[in-house]
Amino acid sequence: MDFSVKKEQKQYSQEIIDFARENLNDSEFYEEFSMDMWKKVSEFGLLGITVDEKYGGLGESYETAAMVFESLGYACKNNGFIFVINNHIWVCQNLINLYGSDELKEKYLPEMVEGKKIGAIAITEPEAGSDAFAMVANVKEQDDCFVLNGTKMFISNGPIADIFIVFAVTEEVPDKKITAFVVERNFEGVTTGNDIEKMGLNACPTSELILDNVKVPKHNILGKFNYGNNILTGALEWERCFEFAPHIGVMQRIMEQCIKQANGRKQFGKPIGSNQAVSHKIAEMEVNIEMAKLMLYKIAWLKDQKKSAYLETSIFKLFVSENYIKTCRDAMQIFGAYGYTKEYEMERELRDAMASSIYSGTNEMQKNTIYNMANARYM
Ligand SMILES: Cc1cc2nc3c(=O)[nH]c(=O)nc-3n(C[C@H](O)[C@H](O)[C@H](O)COP(=O)(O)OP(=O)(O)OC[C@H]3O[C@@H](n4cnc5c(N)ncnc54)[C@H](O)[C@@H]3O)c2cc1C
Repeated sequence: MDFSVKKEQKQYSQEIIDFARENLNDSEFYEEFSMDMWKKVSEFGLLGITVDEKYGGLGESYETAAMVFESLGYACKNNGFIFVINNHIWVCQNLINLYGSDELKEKYLPEMVEGKKIGAIAITEPEAGSDAFAMVANVKEQDDCFVLNGTKMFISNGPIADIFIVFAVTEEVPDKKITAFVVERNFEGVTTGNDIEKMGLNACPTSELILDNVKVPKHNILGKFNYGNNILTGALEWERCFEFAPHIGVMQRIMEQCIKQANGRKQFGKPIGSNQAVSHKIAEMEVNIEMAKLMLYKIAWLKDQKKSAYLETSIFKLFVSENYIKTCRDAMQIFGAYGYTKEYEMERELRDAMASSIYSGTNEMQKNTIYNMANARYM
């Protein structure tokens, strides 16, 4: 095991910190998507971090990407905007990169890496949430295309996306099978609903995706026909790892703010941090950050080895989201009434964090997975 951080990785992480602080923290865009910020991120080159150089990417390892995304969360205070980037990269572009034919890669990756096209993933439906496999979006084969019908729900980036990875049912009997399709916004019959108002992550617009007799060219299948189950499983692994990497950086940033407050704020003639009720909260933050980093780097290493990390990403998702929310709640307590005000931004951090126990599969579903896999191993 080698836990040393390479000089280039440190340098890249510092570059992203400097870039994010200078360009991504305009509070005017905490509650709405900014195309200007998107263009800056694209120009910086972040979007193609792990994509092959031949498609305009940087060809970096997942290990480097993990560190860079952790740093992004540390320096960029706009969690919703990070969510836009994550959805674009990890569960749309990355899936095309890994499962797409050469034709699909050539068609979509360069423009996605350049930020000219924004990506999204569409799994959830009004009646199929945790039970994603209960989806009813369906597909009929015609001579030269597939015709898709259905409604997808809670699609992050929905209102701004140009390219959707859509999962739909392609076989009902004897076993239900699904297939993943690359669907363009400009295909006839594709519409998105209005931005759904949410508690947080408001810089990331969310909507329904409606597919009404959408004709998708046959070559726009991702992977193979009826292969969607595997791609869905893969998508969840990427989501549960890399969308949660920035949360570790956020936890670090919030902990540093808490340390400052614990030392600077005096009550009863001494810093509030001299009370263990306060300092122990900060100690727990440090423990959780360290544990989360170890897990993140292990998963990134597994992905660089092209290995499955289904159990590990479930554990990581559960651990990070629970402690991300706890960190924000404890920080608000340490800041007292100041923490409850909009000015100190802790309330926004907490609102943003709350969704992490729901998206990418709820934490209850992660516990089901972890139990089932542990049970299968030891029985
Ligand atoms: C901010 C945000 C962004 C999202 N972005 C996307 C996106 O881009 N694309 C997309 O496809 N989807 C997206 N989703 C949807 C997300 O994947 C679903 O919300 C999630 O899978 C849960 O489904 P549900 O909300 O329908 O809850 P339900 O499945 O209805 O669950 C409700 C409650 O019941 C519990 N529950 C259900 N079944 C079980 C069980 N078997 N055991 C124990 N508890 C159970 C759940 O844990 C939960 O507490 C997003 C959601 C959020 C909040």
